[in-house]
Amino acid sequence: MEATITSILQDSANKSLASTKLHAELDQGTAIRDALSRIPNLAWSHSNEVSNDFRSDYVTKPSLCMLEAIITTSLGDGDTGEDVETNSFQDYIAGLAGHESALVVVSGTMGNQVALRAALGAPPHSVLADYRGHIVNYEAGGAASVCGATMRMAVPSNGHHLTLDDVKRYSVLSETMYDSPTRIISLENTLNGTILPFEEIQAISEWARAQTPPIHMHLDGARLWEALAAGSCTLREIGACFDSIQLCMTKGLGAPLGSVVIGSAAFIKRAKWSRKLFGGGTRSTGVISGPARAAIENVFFGGKLKAAHVKAKAASELWQQLGGKLQSPTETNMVWLDLEASGLTPDYFFTKAREFGIKSGDLFLQRLVFHYQISDDAFTKLCNFFRSILSG
Ligand SMILES: *Cc1c(COP(=O)(O)O)cnc(C)c1O
Repeated sequence: MEATITSILQDSANKSLASTKLHAELDQGTAIRDALSRIPNLAWSHSNEVSNDFRSDYVTKPSLCMLEAIITTSLGDGDTGEDVETNSFQDYIAGLAGHESALVVVSGTMGNQVALRAALGAPPHSVLADYRGHIVNYEAGGAASVCGATMRMAVPSNGHHLTLDDVKRYSVLSETMYDSPTRIISLENTLNGTILPFEEIQAISEWARAQTPPIHMHLDGARLWEALAAGSCTLREIGACFDSIQLCMTKGLGAPLGSVVIGSAAFIKRAKWSRKLFGGGTRSTGVISGPARAAIENVFFGGKLKAAHVKAKAASELWQQLGGKLQSPTETNMVWLDLEASGLTPDYFFTKAREFGIKSGDLFLQRLVFHYQISDDAFTKLCNFFRSILSG
């Protein structure tokens, strides 16, 4: 199989000498696709394996276009900034967000922690975040161990999203010897699939920047792509409200690995220290950046997230029509069922779901996540499953 790829790449290289650059690229693309299609059992062409898996959007499988991007990527050193593909990807994503610089990291958690550390000086200091946030609950207490920071956990008074009033109530602005002043406001969008309204983000950002010293605005945008696909705002508009942004390439976009941190050139210079310290300075980062860019272009700009939202909304409407209850409205790709209020036990629900060929439940009970690889067939099965358990 190696020989096949090699000979076909060679073929296309020979052919391309005689044609224009565009034709060469098209030829090469076709040649690579042909070669890949001849490899039996290639995991990269098996995205249908997760077509009925509603547990999370991180189950998405990297796809063929991402493997093609890896085959044609550059192989410079990403740690020292010498990889062409990585530099181009970082410039591309920084440009989309209207910032100067960006830095590829290996995971969303590393991206958030790199950003917190780059934004903070010496303790005492605190980070304000929604009490449900990833930074608070799922990052091994990083802010405390890595930055010596206190987490201030804010509870949204409206039960949905943090408002400027909430942020004001939970911020520590005084600097007496008793205080651990708020130096970062870390917002998450989407949070559990819900959208933080753009006007609220603008209001919080304006207020934070008017403080002395200004409070750093960080966005945990692991699932920001979903809010953008839902039409909440553009990446550039939301980019203007934050001093640092972390975007995941692996969740809904389905790239094999990687996240990116975005900010000013001075901020990214500091972020590189943290990335190095955390062991995240890696060599051939073209293998991260190539498929990450393919994921943005193919999945996000290809409108595939939006299509998954349409399925999620249709499923939650059917659930409610049948008398089922939800814990929260379906705004993007997540449906939060309220099984108890719907008169169902989790045991019964999950046993039945399996019978209908639906995978769900072992990460978060009552949550169904619609990623772009959920098939029409799985959606139909889900609808039949809903009808069966709610009318039975
Ligand atoms: C998944 C996630 C992260 C962390 O990403 P990893 O790549 O799993 O480390 C951070 N924030 C949010 C909101 C997430 O959903």
